[in-house]
Amino acid sequence: MATNRTFTMIKPDAVENGYIGAILEKINASGFKIVAMKYTQMSKRDAETFYAIHSERPFFGELVEFMTRSTIVAAILEKDNAVEDFRTLIGATNPVDAAEGTIRKLFATSLSENAVHGSDSDENAAIEGAFHFAGREIF
Ligand code: UDP
Ligand code: MG
Repeated sequence: MATNRTFTMIKPDAVENGYIGAILEKINASGFKIVAMKYTQMSKRDAETFYAIHSERPFFGELVEFMTRSTIVAAILEKDNAVEDFRTLIGATNPVDAAEGTIRKLFATSLSENAVHGSDSDENAAIEGAFHFAGREIF
């Protein structure tokens, strides 16, 4: 995957709250092009694998429970400086700390149920995108 791509998920809280359309609107308005997208639900094994880096953290069990609770939207997004610009667009992990106008400020429920995922590096964007999408699903 090119380094001008990032990976995102609209998390179960935001899907349950009816924010898929509003979040995609923000993503589009911010200049990201969708190059892969699917509506899906993660299994326990999927979530444990996807978040393996956090497996020793105290919130890991709660995170896996949350991410498998209902459906998500997974997508690969393309834009110059995609990883950094998307982290700016989503805001801080805890919505209380997120800047005004960011996706997490607008749509997140709490620190744990924070509406969206955004990759933290080009390397992880490639790994995470490949976790959710076959090559023929990426355009
Ligand atoms: N998380 C949590 N409690 C914490 C920290 C993180 O439940 O104290 C959850 C939250 O959903 C977060 C995810 O774990 O988005 C991954 O954490 P990370 O530190 O990577 O935050 P992010 O990169 O998503 O901002
Ligand atoms: Mg992270």
